[in-house]
This record gives sequence, C-alpha cells and structure tokens, in this order.
Amino acid sequence: MPITPISELPEIPQGTASAMESLAADHRVKALLDAIREDDEATLEEQIAICEVAAPPFKEKARGEMLLGLFRKYGLSDVRMDEVGNVLGVLKGSSDGPVVQIAAHQDTVFPEGTDVRVKREGDVYRAPGISDDTRGLASMLCVARQIVRSGLKPVGSILFTASVGEEGNGDLRGEKYLHYEKKIPVDGFIGIDAADVRRILSGATGAHRWLISYDGPGGHSYHKFGIAPSAIHAMGRAIAKFADLRTPEEPRTTFNLGVIKGGSTVNAIAEHCEAQLDLRSGDNSVLLALEKEVLAKFDEALEEENRRVNAEGDMLLRLTKKPIGNRPAGVSDDLSPVILAARAAQKALGIPLTRYMSASTDHNVPLSRGIPSTTLGAGGVEGNNHALNEWWKRESAWLSPQLVALTALSLTGVEGITAPLLGKGR
Ligand SMILES: [Zn+2]
Repeated sequence: MPITPISELPEIPQGTASAMESLAADHRVKALLDAIREDDEATLEEQIAICEVAAPPFKEKARGEMLLGLFRKYGLSDVRMDEVGNVLGVLKGSSDGPVVQIAAHQDTVFPEGTDVRVKREGDVYRAPGISDDTRGLASMLCVARQIVRSGLKPVGSILFTASVGEEGNGDLRGEKYLHYEKKIPVDGFIGIDAADVRRILSGATGAHRWLISYDGPGGHSYHKFGIAPSAIHAMGRAIAKFADLRTPEEPRTTFNLGVIKGGSTVNAIAEHCEAQLDLRSGDNSVLLALEKEVLAKFDEALEEENRRVNAEGDMLLRLTKKPIGNRPAGVSDDLSPVILAARAAQKALGIPLTRYMSASTDHNVPLSRGIPSTTLGAGGVEGNNHALNEWWKRESAWLSPQLVALTALSLTGVEGITAPLLGKGR
C-alpha cells in the first residue's frame, strides 16, 4: 500500500477535530502548553546532559540508569528497567481507558569511547547523538513532567518508554521485547524520533539485514593462483552483479552493502570475506522479492569463483548467509486514530504538515501488531545524524513536547474535558 500524498489525505473527521478544539480551548490545557514552552531551557539542559552519557549500541545501561532516575523524579509510577534495558514509567489514567505508549530510543550509533561532549556555537549544539535520539528523550521527559505537574487527569494511561536497540544491529530489540515477547497491552503508539515537527510518519519501512560470508582454503597469492578460490573475489563478483539493479521508486526500495571485511595480507588469497547487507522497502512483498534476487547473486558468485579454479572438496569456497535484522514493513490507515490525532494537534498548534512518509524506527514493531502508531518530531532542526559531526539547532523546540502532549491527551481523553479518541482494542 503506497503512502497517500498530503494533498489527497482525507479531512480530519468531526469527532477528532472537535475533541482537539475542546482540549486546546481548555484553560488547564492552555496552561500545560505554556508550561511546556517555559520549560524549553530546562529541556535543552537535559538534552545536553543525556547526550553526554554515552549510549553505544548494546551498551545503553548508564544512560538507562540516568533515565530511570528522571522517570522517578518526574512522578511517573511503576518506574522500572526491564531485562533488556528498556526504561518504563506510567502516568496512570483515572479509569480503565485506552493506553497510549510514548517512546524515544536510548541508543546511538556511536561506539564506546566516542567523545560525546556537547559543543555550543550560538544556537547550534554539536555532538554525536545530540539529536538522534537524545532530543526525543528530552522531549518525552518534558511531556511526562509537565503533564504530571499540570494536574490534568487523563482518562486512559500513558506508558512512557525509553527503548534500547533501535539503531542498526540493535534491530529494534527493545520494542520487539515489549511488543512481541511481553505483548504489552497498549492501544496506540507515539514515537519521538528525528527533529522535524512538521513530519508525521504514517508508514514503517521494512528492513531485512544479512551477514554474508565466504570462506575458503586461502593460500599463497602466487603459488595458489588459479588453484584456490578467493573469498574476496567472490564477494566482488556478487557486488558487481547487484550494484546496478534498479529498484522501485514507489514504494521506495533500496539496497546497501554497508560493511565489508576480509583478507589477511596483500600476498595471500583471502580465506574469509564478510559483508553486511541492508535491504529496505515500504512494502513487504517488494522487500521479499528484492531479497530473493540479491541473495541469489551471492550464490551465483560462489559458483563462478569455484568454477574458475575448478575447486573441489576441501578447496571449495563456501557461502553462509545469516539474517541479522528484520524490521517489518507496514502502512497506517490514513484514518488511524493516532495519525488523525497527530494531524489535529499539528493544526491546533499551527504546525503545517509538510512530510507524510515512512521510515524505519521503533514504530515498525507496534504497527506490525496492528496497533495505531506514528512517530512525531523531537523539535528543533538537525543535521548529519549518525555522523560524528551531528548537530542540532534550537528553534521553536518546545513545539515537539506540545505536539506530543496534545496528541497523547486527545487519545487518552482528559477527565472533565474530552472522551478518549482511542478505542480500547486489546
Ligand atoms: Zn533515531
């Protein structure tokens, strides 16, 4: 299912629109939005403090402990760190209403030892991870403390989660644990990731990842030439076979061999070569077809390399393909209550919707369970994410916690103001 162009989106239905109007017009909600804006400086300070506690892939513990303390400090209940390192806290609803999950991820892509100290130049802050997703965590914490302080009583509950393993080979392991293993009962999901508040994610780009290895006997580069197959040459053959493949523009479908390692020295035929392959599409069937096609190229390359040297028995090169990542694809219904609430909240705050698209992030997981899901912007302006020169610019950054708070409260409903927009499905 393709993503609907913004110009063709259905109008926001009356029920959603009027609930949002009632919320936005209420003086207590107005006070909450003002408080969030006034909290901008403190939110930024927290963003910097969190960024400077490194959270390398699979090593989020120190940052998790910090977040655990902050969840407690801001008055959430049932605050805990689970077995895999996710940090959870609940803002309890006044009755047995729908549960909305708000999520931001703890991990960064940067390895241990990376200098994560934040450098400021005017309104620009530079550090690896300063935006992705430290800004999301800071926005989420602002939402939590300000709703608690506001005294507003949501009808349904809000579950705040700081997830582990969103990036790269983390393969969404935090949210997968919560949703696939623990089957947490939530009725709607709001992720906060990437700065732009004008963007609403309506789809989940699927990603399949593979570790591909060739292993063979190796040998002297001169003496065994023409006798021993080369693991590196086989990899090169495979790459040459798929590098020119054309993939669909819609749904956007991509492939990338992002890491390659192998060989031991210049005058040895390589015994080993391995590579990491990333395949993505907004449509699962397109993704599977591409995967089949690309994986077959590695088999063809194996055969050709073995044939070139007439390898037999122990001299044969072997191929192994190991799946290292599986992120399910999916597309939201344009009438999903979470998407509609987010659009209505944008409207209430005067934020234009400029990008309605799919990406690969924590919301892939709840969306694959059929839970209405989206991901909203973390605020400010960002650049060079996943690079050492990542930067974040302070610019109307409070709009993110305002947007997330309004969206979430409209979904849970608020005692004395509005009924939940979200159904209690599970
Ligand atoms: Zn991210």
